Amino acid sequence: MAIATLQSEDDFAGWRDAARRLVAARVPPHDVVWQVGDGATDLFGGEAIVGGEAIVGGEAPPLRVPRPFIDLAGAALLHTEPARFGMLYTMLTRLIEQPRLIGDRADPQLRRLEAMARQVRRDIHKMRAFLRFRETVDDDGVPRFVAWFTPEHHIVRANAAFFVDRFAAMRWSILTPALSLHWDGAIVREGPGAVRGDAPGGDPAEEVWKTYYASIFNPARLKVGAMLKEMPRKYWHAMPETALVGELIAGARARETGMIAKARTAPGGNVDAAWAALRGEAAHCTRCDLYRDATQTVFGEGPLDAQMVFVGEQPGDQEDLAGRPFVGPAGQMFDRAMAAAKIDRAGVYVTNAVKHFKFEQRGKRRIHAKPNAGEIDACRWWIEQERALIRPRITVALGATAARSLLGKAVTISAVRGRPIALADESEAWVTVHPSYLLRIPDRDEAQAEFDRFVEDLKAAAARVA
Ligand code: SF4
Repeated sequence: MAIATLQSEDDFAGWRDAARRLVAARVPPHDVVWQVGDGATDLFGGEAIVGGEAIVGGEAPPLRVPRPFIDLAGAALLHTEPARFGMLYTMLTRLIEQPRLIGDRADPQLRRLEAMARQVRRDIHKMRAFLRFRETVDDDGVPRFVAWFTPEHHIVRANAAFFVDRFAAMRWSILTPALSLHWDGAIVREGPGAVRGDAPGGDPAEEVWKTYYASIFNPARLKVGAMLKEMPRKYWHAMPETALVGELIAGARARETGMIAKARTAPGGNVDAAWAALRGEAAHCTRCDLYRDATQTVFGEGPLDAQMVFVGEQPGDQEDLAGRPFVGPAGQMFDRAMAAAKIDRAGVYVTNAVKHFKFEQRGKRRIHAKPNAGEIDACRWWIEQERALIRPRITVALGATAARSLLGKAVTISAVRGRPIALADESEAWVTVHPSYLLRIPDRDEAQAEFDRFVEDLKAAAARVA
């Protein structure tokens, strides 16, 4: 039996050092006991012993592991799950045998660790977003800003650099139940845990927070639904920056709209650059939760002077991996129908109403899951920007999700199919089925009839721009 002792709950360096030594000594995961603090031994943190003897002295031997595992381990280790050190060591030993395992999204242990890492990252974000300083004065008369925060995981040290960076010029203290951090402008000192009563009450330092909030505001990351869930309106009175939210959203929209209008109308306006900027912003979008499990944002593609835009539902498994829309089985069906309708596929812009792949994991397979209304509405931001930049005469919504995104309300396909619908920008919407629907029809004759009908819809829409 080996005992690995870490200095603290968030001692990643100690865990890594101990893990290297344990691997070098070929100690299997079930023969390791992980402990934090002095516990049953007097060893320094990070040192692993077997039968009372330190396994390796001096430098721990280096290990080759996939880079994503280092990132995963660094986050998951901060979780409050007591078994995390052993779980990570087990995963490490498996990865040494099979490095490609890191890409196996169906592996239950990997998925569990990834879920833990996500919870930790969310907690880190919450601390950055919702912690509130109150102004006090040190004995020497210099102001000190003090905040109370209760983290769910062991994230306080991991967040220290962020607050130093943001508030380098002021003295501050962050008090939490497990430990406190104190910044004096030069170094961060750690102190013992505190209780809520140790932090001052009263008004938060309004101007500091407004300035800070405005500086971190990113419209691509704005999730009003999540804000309301995590930060109910009844608490907003204590959060001065909430007064800025409406203003910042409006300002962000005006900026993007202005960028697009300029690209379209100013002499030398660069539509390609504006599109590239939008695509770049969407790549980091966190407006809804779908970005968490998908591989990447799948933005639209096609000529930016296209007269027709086709909008699908969301990327599928293959699109998610390729990073391009309409390349999977439904995309191939779409290509066949476009060819049958004599529409040049290379001359139209194709995109999706929802730009991240939503799926359920079943064994090794990722099964398509329908985006909900909140996700469609959150992602409408991007399709509106794409359409504003391209200014198509016709936008064809393929399926109910695309129709909801385009029309702003749920519609029944059969009720709106095959006729033009006027949009606010004076262009036209057409609604038809999604090509994946054609793939799911088991009866061959019925499938052919539906395919022909789909082709007729495409022809009718294309005739409007002929
Ligand atoms: S699905 Fe759309 S709104 Fe949601 S994170 Fe992805 S790009 Fe953003």
